[in-house]
Amino acid sequence: MSESMLQEAVGRLKESGVRITPQRHAVLEYLINSEIHPTADDIYKALEGKFPNMSVATVYNNLRVFREIGLIRELTYGDASSRFDYNTSNHYHIICTTCGKIVDFHYPTLDEVESLAEQVTGFEVSHHRMEIYGTCADCKTKH
Ligand SMILES: [Zn+2]
Ligand SMILES: [Zn+2]
Repeated sequence: MSESMLQEAVGRLKESGVRITPQRHAVLEYLINSEIHPTADDIYKALEGKFPNMSVATVYNNLRVFREIGLIRELTYGDASSRFDYNTSNHYHIICTTCGKIVDFHYPTLDEVESLAEQVTGFEVSHHRMEIYGTCADCKTKH
């Protein structure tokens, strides 16, 4: 997808003092180009041919580093493995209940929900999460 997004991400890693190894670079590139919100396992499978010494644990470690500096978001869904999303901008997710596919869509951030919650509860709101569920176009045609 975008070479400039990769450059920008590498720049942010450098600023944060994170060493850029070839594996780290490859994981980042995969995340930026991926539209499937991959699990650590998906990333491992996609890259193991290129990096025979890499383990799933290495992938997890890299993902943790990226998450800590805010480059990516971790999406957790109950018992299923976490999925990872390159953090481009605020967006929401629609999830297929048949195949598990997650698709991004953009909608103005629902800031008013956050301020209402703050007023009603006295919390200091940090973020919110909203998901839409349904059957994706592919699954719809199969049934
Ligand atoms: Zn589906
Ligand atoms: Zn997303």
